[in-house]
Amino acid sequence: MAPDTLNVPLPPDLVRLGANPVGKEEAIREAAQLLIASGCIDPAYADSMLRREGVANTFLGHGVAIPHGMVEDRDLVRRNGIAILQVPGGVLWNEGQTARLVVAIAARSDAHIAVLRRLTRLMQDEERLAGLFTATDPAVLLTALSEDSALPAATGPAVDLAERFEWTVDYPTGLHARPASVWVETARAAPGRVQVRHGDQTADAKALVALLQLGLRMGDRIVVSAEGADAATTVARMKAAITRLTAKEQADAAAAERKARAPVQGWTPPTALPAVAGVGASPGLAIGPVHAVLSAALTVPDRPESLIDGGNRLHEALNLTRQQLKALADDTARRLGPSEAGIFTAQAELLNDTDLITRACQLMVEGHGPAWAWHEAVESGAARLAALPNPVLAARAADLRDVGRRVLARIDPSLRGGTLRDLPDTPCILIAEDLSPSDTAGLDMARVIGLATAQGGPTSHTAILARTLGLPAMVAGGGGLLGVANGTPAILDGQSGRLYLNPTEADLAAAHGWIEEQQLRKARQEERRGLPARTRDGHAVEIGANVNRPDQVPVALSQGAEGVGLMRTEFLFLERGDAPGEDEQFETYRAMLDALDGRPLIVRALDIGGDKQVPHLHLPHEENPFLGVRGARLLLRQPDLLEPQLRALYRAAKHAKPGALSIMFPMITTLTEVETLRAVCDRIRAELDAPAVPLGIMVEVPAAAVLADVLARHVDFFSIGTNDLTQYALAIDRQHPELAAEADSLHPAVLRLIRMTVEGAERHGRWVGVCGGIAGDPFGAALLTGLGVRELSMTPRDIPGVKDRLRDSSLTALHELAQRALACETAGAVRALDGGAAGEGGAP
Ligand code: PEP
Ligand code: MG
Repeated sequence: MAPDTLNVPLPPDLVRLGANPVGKEEAIREAAQLLIASGCIDPAYADSMLRREGVANTFLGHGVAIPHGMVEDRDLVRRNGIAILQVPGGVLWNEGQTARLVVAIAARSDAHIAVLRRLTRLMQDEERLAGLFTATDPAVLLTALSEDSALPAATGPAVDLAERFEWTVDYPTGLHARPASVWVETARAAPGRVQVRHGDQTADAKALVALLQLGLRMGDRIVVSAEGADAATTVARMKAAITRLTAKEQADAAAAERKARAPVQGWTPPTALPAVAGVGASPGLAIGPVHAVLSAALTVPDRPESLIDGGNRLHEALNLTRQQLKALADDTARRLGPSEAGIFTAQAELLNDTDLITRACQLMVEGHGPAWAWHEAVESGAARLAALPNPVLAARAADLRDVGRRVLARIDPSLRGGTLRDLPDTPCILIAEDLSPSDTAGLDMARVIGLATAQGGPTSHTAILARTLGLPAMVAGGGGLLGVANGTPAILDGQSGRLYLNPTEADLAAAHGWIEEQQLRKARQEERRGLPARTRDGHAVEIGANVNRPDQVPVALSQGAEGVGLMRTEFLFLERGDAPGEDEQFETYRAMLDALDGRPLIVRALDIGGDKQVPHLHLPHEENPFLGVRGARLLLRQPDLLEPQLRALYRAAKHAKPGALSIMFPMITTLTEVETLRAVCDRIRAELDAPAVPLGIMVEVPAAAVLADVLARHVDFFSIGTNDLTQYALAIDRQHPELAAEADSLHPAVLRLIRMTVEGAERHGRWVGVCGGIAGDPFGAALLTGLGVRELSMTPRDIPGVKDRLRDSSLTALHELAQRALACETAGAVRALDGGAAGEGGAP
């Protein structure tokens, strides 16, 4: 970046307060006059600024306009500078756009980035910005517009801010995206600038990419400094946040090290086969033809448009992508686990990076289209990350590109990469330059049996996801991998990281033999998973899986699921740009029932709101969505959502084995809600001449647990959503980064609510299930069973552990355990009761 970027001079004579121009042209001329008087521009540049207005809109939004000259007139700029015209009464810039702050920019190169960066920030702080429109002291404007965030590579001696502390990086894998996003979050809570310096390099601690680009490694000495109001407190908070992460980073690294050192046994082909060598990323053997998705560098056409439209589109795309990532994190947390979900939370943080956004804005101000500008900003940031010597950080380039592509697809849907949609129907080993985490998370497992990438590393998020998905994978195969012709028969060993090409019959036979052996071993395990969760004294607990899509059912069944206890239908809406209609929903529910082949399926009606926002429904923003129009409350207000879903469900019920399908409603709080929903169900059932379907409710709100004996009369079953019940009982946001760990569903208060629910249900002969996360915890499952819960539904991979635990216990012992837990005073005391299954064995 050019050195003059940092030094846009702003002497007081370049500010005019209380101006009252009659129109836009006069405003631009007045502002230009300030620049002329200070010697920044040739007088002819004023005309150039006016000409620019004819071809582009320089209104940035929020009452700010940034007139500047044409690119070809840059030689009329004598030195970089900006002038500010404050127009308290406003001047009409364009139809419907009133400017109150006219920031005229004279820039020979890309010097106005600094100003734009500042403006971007001010625009996020509307209150402060509004103050600038009427400020009577030029110093207020001067400070606001000349404060610049530090850039990643400032030239000249780097200077620390007023308050500071020194720290030696003690994270074994350096500063990577996940801890960096905590630093950024902490820094963003501070009112003033926060900076991290390493040698001559400084980075704005509020900008994730800039921080990562410092490339901090274990042992690096850095200075964290802050200025502005409360700088000392800010520095203390930064220090606390930074050092608090040390233990986790070290523990994670030690665990990764242990894993890496664990003995690995790759497969050896009997003949000397040509092979592409890479790094093993996810163990297992895959045999099949290769299919390369050679992502030709994405060509993003440059379609300039007005700054305001482009800016709006970028803004909207960023917001939608944030929500989409949140939904993806949520779904991944449920399907694969919280640490895998953290990948997408960290990706979302990349979107808050002002460097990225400013760079894109700056390119748009230069006249480029929003898609092109965004793509360019992402690519340059990713290229710098990829060039870092630390492989962990370099791997984050893929994250930045991934998240960048999501935004791009939102700006212009025609740029949505279609590569993975065009896979052959027969299973293949997928070859790619690199694969984004979201592509990996969304892979069609029926068509992809293995993954081999030219780039990436075993610590990349793609590799982590492949391991979680159980998909054999190798990474870092190099350019040679991309030369392998499509359809070439191959054997991929994800353990040793080898792709063997053109295997002979003998190799294939050996590989098949090896796979069979592995499968036999797995089958033995699966056989045990298939046993019912029957306690030693003969009490059987029903075990369901929480799955949302028909293609996930076979995996759930192979893990030992006896049905689906929770199908979260909002995921049919979350990962797409529109709402599925009745017919499409009907097909999905029918496919679920078919996949389950007569086993029970409990479909939860849409639970939208709270942590599951669906952008395309354009629901009003809520200050506190967890306590707002969520779940049943929304359904009752939006028959256009509720009724097509119920019709689709009752239509599916007509094809289902009697009793296989049940419907339940989320976030029930009152009896009136239950009665109204039941009436809608009855009407739709009658209209469709469909069979009766058991209707249940989720017990997630303490009120529903306390009133269980009342509600039980009106429903067929309860399913306790312990995730929400815990959140609402303990008043802890389930996604709160600091508190979420304390939201323990085994808190005695939650256990007592569960007991009340069971008692209320039993009074009317209803059964109670649990489909929140604690059902998948073996100790939690034991306790719930002891409390009288009859059905447990969980993430499929938790099933074998839960079944084992229950099979090793006796119901009598579990009843006693539950009584002891109910008498505990703290969640810790409850957890301390966990003596393993042995402690609950009881009489055989
Ligand atoms: C719950 O709240 O426990 C539950 C299962 O629902 P969700 O996690 O989808 O809110
Ligand atoms: Mg819930």
